[in-house]
Amino acid sequence: MDNRFKAIVQGFKNYVFPNKEVEEVAHQRASICAACPSAVETMMKQLLPDDSIKEIEGLKCSDCGCILSAKVRQVFESCPQNKW
Ligand code: SF4
Repeated sequence: MDNRFKAIVQGFKNYVFPNKEVEEVAHQRASICAACPSAVETMMKQLLPDDSIKEIEGLKCSDCGCILSAKVRQVFESCPQNKW
């Protein structure tokens, strides 16, 4: 399994089944993403609500294409601009 696939699986698992440590890191990353011009709207807002981290709900990273609610909740991939 390559790292990108592992990141997607882990990110969505942690999105569906949140745990405290992951959420703490996710909040820190999300505040950086929310201020980044590469965070762009998708059609996913209704499909993938993020009640825990509203600031990135429905957004994706236009650099890597990842849905941010999953991206910030995994350990295999970092920010493509090295912001986190
Ligand atoms: S992952 Fe990095 S490049 Fe992508 S939106 Fe977040 S801060 Fe910006």
